Amino acid sequence: MDTGMVLLDRNNLKEEQFEKAAELLRNGELVAFPTETVYGLGGNALDPGASAKIYAAKGRPSDNPLIVHICDTDALPVLAKNIPESAWKLADRFWPGPMTMILEKQDIVPKETTGGLNTIAIRMPSDPIAAMLIKVSGLYIAAPSANASGRPSTTKASHVYEDLNGRIAMILDGGSVQIGLESTIIDLTGEKPLILRPGYITLEDVREILPDAEYDPAVLRRERNDNIVAKAPGMKYRHYAPKGQLTIFEGNLEDVVNAVYREAVLKQKQGFKTAVLASEETKDRYPGLTVLSVGNREDEEGIAACLFDTLREFDHMGAEFIFGECFRTDGVGQAVMNRLLKAAGYRIESAGDKSRSLKK
Ligand code: AMP
Ligand code: MG
Repeated sequence: MDTGMVLLDRNNLKEEQFEKAAELLRNGELVAFPTETVYGLGGNALDPGASAKIYAAKGRPSDNPLIVHICDTDALPVLAKNIPESAWKLADRFWPGPMTMILEKQDIVPKETTGGLNTIAIRMPSDPIAAMLIKVSGLYIAAPSANASGRPSTTKASHVYEDLNGRIAMILDGGSVQIGLESTIIDLTGEKPLILRPGYITLEDVREILPDAEYDPAVLRRERNDNIVAKAPGMKYRHYAPKGQLTIFEGNLEDVVNAVYREAVLKQKQGFKTAVLASEETKDRYPGLTVLSVGNREDEEGIAACLFDTLREFDHMGAEFIFGECFRTDGVGQAVMNRLLKAAGYRIESAGDKSRSLKK
């Protein structure tokens, strides 16, 4: 299949530019498009065949449900039932925007779209390209992140091309996305609102509307082999991972820099292609090593926007081993560290503790 690339000028968007993409979607084909969080791989959410194509194109496990994108809250009762008051409050405060909620699904939503679950994930994106595509198509659009399964999410059209060229009908190129991390997922089907995936909208933001909201314990996990089962099926997989083996060092910054330097030099001396994931403040502390900076430590939103692109850069340079610094976990930092630790497959080392130093 030839994948068409359509370049869109955000300052001059017209509905007719979306007609071709909308027609492809109505015919059961797949179109990738930018949202404010990451690029999405869109298909008609009510067409089981389109959902099956999404799983096939990404190589995604079929028990990992898709998020359905809407452009109007009128769609909520069409797609979901027994909608609690809390859902309307969240929608009122955070939509359109990077917030996804889990509700009980209506019968018209096929199980293919929800990974076999009786619940559905729904989001109203704020990106004008995403909103216009949904509106012009007249559809509800199921759209997981537009990356090959397991790889870092896509924040530029070139990333989508890299992973999905030849597997999907079209890519709408709207440049780099604004946020760079996937939406905050809030489950409203249990006793308390639960954040299943942290994102740009933080727990503190959610608690302003729903004071009893909490994190799903899987969000805060630190160990590879614990017994915590994530409530969002997608959060149980190794994800966002570069091809090289990534290890994250935690501790105070001085110890972290020293440990990252020591371990990276060791691997490099063994003849492996080795790289360091650092920050603007520390990038000059690794002489003789290949270093990529994700931005200033104080600018968590900047780090969020760069993270996936940087993880892909390690692949482009062929890094076999990557040693990375940890970052702050307040605000958006919680989501940044969640993605980074998953990318590392929870390969986390304590920088101050020399007995745990990697000797292999
Ligand atoms: P992605 O669209 O690639 O960002 O992935 C969607 C995420 O939403 C995955 O982690 C899914 O497991 C999660 N998700 C989608 N639908 C549900 C649902 N009904 N219940 C729990 N998690 C869901
Ligand atoms: Mg994804």
